[in-house]
Amino acid sequence: MRLSRYFLPVLKETPSEAQIVSHRLMLRAGMIKQASAGIYSWLPLGYKVLKRIEQIVHEEQIRAGHIPMLMPTLQPADLWRESGRYDAYGPEMLRIRDRHDRDMLYGPTNEEMITDIFRAHVTSYKDLPLTLYHIQWKFRDEIRPRFGVMRGREFLMKDGYNFDLTKEDALHAYNRHLVSYLRTYERMGLQAIPMRADSGPIGGDDTHEFLVLAETGESEVFYDSEITELRFGDREIDYDSREQCQAVLEEFTSRYARTDETHDAAIFADIPEDRQRVARGIEVGQIFYFGTKYSVPLGALVDDGQGGRVPVHMGSHGIGVSRLVGAIIEASHDDKGIIWPEGVTPFHVGIVNLKQGDAACDGACEDLYKAFTAKGLEPLYDDRSERAGAKFASMDLIGLPWRVTVGPRGLGNGVVELTSRRTGESEELPLEAVVARVAEIYAPHM
Ligand code: ATP
Ligand code: MG
Repeated sequence: MRLSRYFLPVLKETPSEAQIVSHRLMLRAGMIKQASAGIYSWLPLGYKVLKRIEQIVHEEQIRAGHIPMLMPTLQPADLWRESGRYDAYGPEMLRIRDRHDRDMLYGPTNEEMITDIFRAHVTSYKDLPLTLYHIQWKFRDEIRPRFGVMRGREFLMKDGYNFDLTKEDALHAYNRHLVSYLRTYERMGLQAIPMRADSGPIGGDDTHEFLVLAETGESEVFYDSEITELRFGDREIDYDSREQCQAVLEEFTSRYARTDETHDAAIFADIPEDRQRVARGIEVGQIFYFGTKYSVPLGALVDDGQGGRVPVHMGSHGIGVSRLVGAIIEASHDDKGIIWPEGVTPFHVGIVNLKQGDAACDGACEDLYKAFTAKGLEPLYDDRSERAGAKFASMDLIGLPWRVTVGPRGLGNGVVELTSRRTGESEELPLEAVVARVAEIYAPHM
């Protein structure tokens, strides 16, 4: 993309309404525009990051054997009356009436709808196990929408639902989700710690929330510092193997890590004092096992192969896709702007032309642009006739992890400069070498 032809409405002033850094930076970098409280338009740069996050979520869900689909945002109230949640959900649910006076709602989550789909089509244990998911906008009429996309009213969520014959099978699905979530967040450059949590209106006994540590997080968390040393890394996992998934769950939940909802001061006190941590975290996902809580009232039964009909065991598993954009920025920025992890960056590399209109500089930038594109990388070429300082400031603000600077002096020596946004370190490289180097950096993310 050439910046002169893009739509990147960066703001010079720091917006006063934004209380936390990710919200400020998303507004300043021209990523979002508020439409009304807690409801945002995703401008091109923000939309690109959102799509990259969505893509990673899809890839990791499919890798785990879960099947993508799409359910609508608007749901009939009658389904929620069947589960008993229509009245129970409270004012966070946006209730709507259509022209025929039918009660509808903008879905805050989809347990009822997916169970309705399941009961219409699945009748036998032979069709199990089954895990379906979608990435769809949700609406919760939050009492206090704030922090930009972190606590919106309309927000994008991945929600997945497993259907299993037995509790044991459903717990395997739970573990599979835990593993796939660890991989998902790490690919986004995040450490998200599974913490024992409370199930809230979804219901159920087993649940973990995934939290990214950040001072601006809304949850208070208590953990053993050893847990922050764990990494899933690039290990291979067989998602069908109960033993392997169980082992990962045990590894990642073996240290104390709880939100304030389930915190137990007595157990916490047993951790060696120098490892006790009280901090704040951003919830970026949650997994639940809730057994037959929905399958019983909605009548989602299967024949069990032994002459009986039994309600299926279920769980639901959410990732806050749009919240993640803010959470990643909270975890990765400096006073100049955003620093995107390679896995989610909106463009792979920025090209800054220090002397627009100079034949050699323009030609070298065009060559780089073509060469990066040929490698499957997306460059953002700042081809505006701006001062170098202004170009650097924009690049720093929007946070592309790598920048190539092309100027007459370097070109005279046959080199351009490659700069890391994270460390600020630069190296001079010939044109072909810089393309190969950037391609190599991104190889694990392609
Ligand atoms: P919270 O406790 O933050 O209100 P929740 O526990 O009610 O969230 P879940 O039902 O677990 O939310 O939804 C799954 C994920 O969706 C959450 O982990 C979070 O990342 C995201 N999410 C929930 N509410 C919002 C919101 N209002 N804005 C943005 N993302 C949200
Ligand atoms: Mg939650």
